[in-house]
Order: sequence, then structure tokens, then C-alpha cells
Amino acid sequence: MAEDQWLTPETLPQGALMAGKRGVVMGVANKDSIAWGIARVLASQGAEMAFTILGSMERRVRPLADTIGVKTLIPCEVTDDASMDAAFRTVEETFGTLDFLVHAIAFSDKNELKGSFVENTTRANFARSMDISAYSFVDVARRASKLMPNGGSLVTLTYLGSERTVPNYNVMGVAKAALEASTRYIARDLGPQKIRANAISAGAVRTLSLAGISGGRGMLSRGRTWAPMREDTSVESVGGCALWLLSDLGRSTTGEVIHVDAGFHIVGLPDEEPD
Ligand code: NAD
Repeated sequence: MAEDQWLTPETLPQGALMAGKRGVVMGVANKDSIAWGIARVLASQGAEMAFTILGSMERRVRPLADTIGVKTLIPCEVTDDASMDAAFRTVEETFGTLDFLVHAIAFSDKNELKGSFVENTTRANFARSMDISAYSFVDVARRASKLMPNGGSLVTLTYLGSERTVPNYNVMGVAKAALEASTRYIARDLGPQKIRANAISAGAVRTLSLAGISGGRGMLSRGRTWAPMREDTSVESVGGCALWLLSDLGRSTTGEVIHVDAGFHIVGLPDEEPD
């Protein structure tokens, strides 16, 4: 099939895989955000959603949310307990119960996402990166699970830099390793309540977060040349994976880290450059 015939959230047949399901999507900052790509796919399948956003993002996010009928935008700073309390109170008032949650949040000081990991990593930013990028998923899982009496599904976003070293990814790689391990412990604890937790390990996607990593553009172009499929990771396919995991189609999968990266993670040694 030609590339221009691939399904997008706009051309995806409207379906009912998420009909009757209510959820929270955390981490839409703009039209490039992975969370936005996921939200559009979920909307095409009938999901009802609220977004949590950083306060300053509302101006940019509101017009996007309107296009898919998302009315509730909730300010939420994950490092602030009072903000998290208020956000989940609003979620409960809005929906009563929840069926799914998408966590697409990460942060680290960009001055430490370059050069030597050993020389450039400070105690303060190590702790902050872990807090925002890993601990927040644990905190969110605890709060969301209280609103999931009928079971549910949680998805977070990770990157290969957790498993292998990637230049400049540095402390974020360590935080993503903690996030993936946390996903397994969350899955174990909440499994008996029929709540699943999985991580999608996405290939490089051009977003604000990627722009904060020194050489982020190189992560994209090498992804394209080294990945077995010789193409970028499409945000639609990350959305497709989230749809599978968040719908009943994924009901036996939990504690997994699933790569959606055009196969990049399987390559040990790239093909030789042509002379
Ligand atoms: P993005 O910048 O669009 O999204 C990051 C989000 O995190 C933003 O909405 C931002 O507001 C939010 N955030 C940061 N600090 C926060 C805080 N203290 N409290 C609440 N929210 C906060 O970038 P993205 O690339 O869409 O990132 C989403 C997720 O995907 C991240 O976990 C990222 O690490 C992961 N990821 C990205 C790529 C990529 O190449 N872009 C690849 C794999 C995984």
C-alpha cells in the first residue's frame, strides 16, 4: 500500500473500540505531542477524555481539544501534591469512574542532556528528572486506580535510552529505566484489580521534548537510516499501540514494554554506509 494510503486518525474508520470508556490523557502540550497523537486515535474510537496540562499550555491545547470534543482541561503539575490532589478531584467530579489513563510526561534540564553523563549530572536534576519522569507514573497509578472499580488500563511512554546508551540522553535514560521497572511493579500490584499497566517505547518523534536533547535531530535521522523499516516512527502507530493496550483487545497484556520504533531497537550493528 502506498504511504499516502496509510490510515491516519482522520481517515481511520470511526469505530467503537473505546465506546463507553472514560479516561485521562496527561501530557498534551501542542499538536506535535505524542499524547495528542494518541488522543486523536482514541477519539476516533469513541473514547471520552479529559486532558491534564501544565497551566501555561491551555492557550495552545484548547483549540486542539475542541476539534475532538474534549471539554475538560485540568491544570496539573505532577511534582506538586496539592495540584495532583485537585486534578484527580476534578477527574472524579467529571467522570465518577475511570477506564484508562495515558501518562506522556517527562522532563530534565536540557543542560544535562548533552555531553558526559558522568560529568554533567547533578544531584538536583537527577532527582527532579526521576520525580517528573518516573515517580509521577507511580503517583498517578495510585490515584487513578482508586477511580477504577471495574478494572482499567494505564499506558506510559518510554524510550530505548533506558536499555542501551544513547548519546546525550543521559539522565533521562536512567529515569526511563526506573519508569519501566515501575510499570512492572504497578502491573503486579494492580493486576488483581484487573488494572493493567504497560509502557510504549517509541522511536524518535519530533516534539518539544526531543528538541531539548542535544543532537535530537540525529536521533531522528539515524532512526530513519538504521531502522529495518528505514522510516520515522509515526505518531499514528504509537496511537494505534495505545488503542490496543487501552481497549479490551489488550486485556491479557500487562507489565510490558512494547517498542513502536520501525524496528530500531533490534539493530545491533547498522548496515555499512555505501562507499
Ligand atoms: P512533549 O513535550 O509534547 O510532552 C511532554 C509533556 O510533559 C508536556 O505536555 C509537558 O507539559 C509535560 N510535563 C513536563 N513536566 C511536567 C510537570 N512537572 N507536570 C506536568 N506535566 C509536565 O513531548 P513528547 O515527546 O510528546 O513527550 C511525551 C512522552 O513521550 C515523554 O515521556 C517522552 O519522554 C516520551 N517519548 C518521546 C519520544 C520522542 O522522540 N519525542 C520518544 C520516546 C518517548
